[in-house]
Amino acid sequence: SLSDRLTGALKDLRGKGRLSDADIDTTCREIRLALLDADVALPVVRSFIGKIKERAKGAEVSGALNPAQQVVKIVNEELIAILGGETRRVQFAKNPPTVIMLAGLQGSGKTTLAGKLAKWLKDQGHTPLLVACDLQRPGAVSQLQIVGERAGAAVFAPHPGTSVGDSEIEIRVADPINVARAGIEEANAKQYDVVIVDTAGRLGIDMELMQQAAGIRDAVEPDETLFVLDAMIGQDAVSTAESFRDGVGFTGVVLTKLDGDARGGAALSVREVTGMPIMFASTGEKLEEFDVFHPDRMASRILGMGDVLSLIEAAEQHFDEEQAQATAAKIGSGQLTLEDFLEQMMAIRKMGPIGNLLGMLPGAGQMKDALSQVDDSQLDRVQAIIRGMTPAERTDPKIINASRRLRIANGSGVKVSDVNQLVDRFFEARKMMASMSRQMGMPGARRQTR
Ligand code: GDP
Ligand code: MG
Repeated sequence: SLSDRLTGALKDLRGKGRLSDADIDTTCREIRLALLDADVALPVVRSFIGKIKERAKGAEVSGALNPAQQVVKIVNEELIAILGGETRRVQFAKNPPTVIMLAGLQGSGKTTLAGKLAKWLKDQGHTPLLVACDLQRPGAVSQLQIVGERAGAAVFAPHPGTSVGDSEIEIRVADPINVARAGIEEANAKQYDVVIVDTAGRLGIDMELMQQAAGIRDAVEPDETLFVLDAMIGQDAVSTAESFRDGVGFTGVVLTKLDGDARGGAALSVREVTGMPIMFASTGEKLEEFDVFHPDRMASRILGMGDVLSLIEAAEQHFDEEQAQATAAKIGSGQLTLEDFLEQMMAIRKMGPIGNLLGMLPGAGQMKDALSQVDDSQLDRVQAIIRGMTPAERTDPKIINASRRLRIANGSGVKVSDVNQLVDRFFEARKMMASMSRQMGMPGARRQTR
């Protein structure tokens, strides 16, 4: 899937202290292929990759994020941008009714969407009226009536009161444009505040269909025209969207059948190509399998790295560049104190329960196993022990003698052996960290991105 491939492309960057231009080029090549295989339109892929490359190569050195995380962050931000950035909400008319017209190919999910929208609007206190203007497909009117009933919304059909089976012929000769007009009158008379106009579609683009849709549009003067797009149609999504934009025009896109599409090509192309925002997403046949479209959530779904993204956000929020540099310098010279250690631990714990943080660490195999035995209660104990020490003891734990160890243990509710263990481990760790830091030639925590 696209997610797996993007994750794969970005995984190769992990563990690199610096990224060369060649590293970035390789990663971008893989991302490009993944997008093309997911049916993302070529011009969209080109501009996307161009932006990633430029930003990754020009990225500022960051103390909070390692280079791989920085690239993940950039890719995520650019994904959000091509999905439209901000969430676009329905614009309601100043003078009701607000008219929402649905357009799209046959089978794209217009009638199903009509029901979903009606329920969604009702849940927000609106009183929607569904208007059946698909008089082409046999059974289309009764389908809308069923959907409306499920949503608890009224339906205006060509001959209200008669069952469709009896009036099949009358319905066929009725004119969808007149029905649309009559629907608006009905809404005005009975004070429905939103009108949802369901229209006919064809299996492919054709002129008659476009003209009919344009005729309905002119008759009802919609506040929103939603182009309904089946996300599973892959490559054809773009040309279909362009035809509807030119033939009927629309103010927003609804992506349907996202439940069946693992590739995401339509989602990533349609906004860029048409310039119109994706407003809703439909993820199943049921009325409630539907929601407002949020570009940021879709991006993290496509990237498939929700956990890593949360970690990045938390790290950026809680990172203090100056403190990190000071600590790194102390580590290098073997002067780290228990006071520093306590501060570091508290900074890390601000990000959330330790178990969650470990779960977010990307692929830290062995280290993860070792750390998986650490839990928050152990960390609480360590904090309590350090807090039980005097400032002088925290700075130089060597001065803590046997009687002080007993006092600290009693004061923090632990055993003397726990205190001993903490102090011993601290000395070991300090020595090891100092020698590691010397070997890596790191005077501070700064790492170069390239
Ligand atoms: P219309 O011709 O544009 O009105 O399309 P319909 O609303 O009749 O939908 C065509 C088919 O797609 C129906 O079988 C729907 O149940 C199905 N459908 C609609 N939306 C979704 C969706 O989001 N996911 C899935 N899996 N099926 C959908
Ligand atoms: Mg329909």
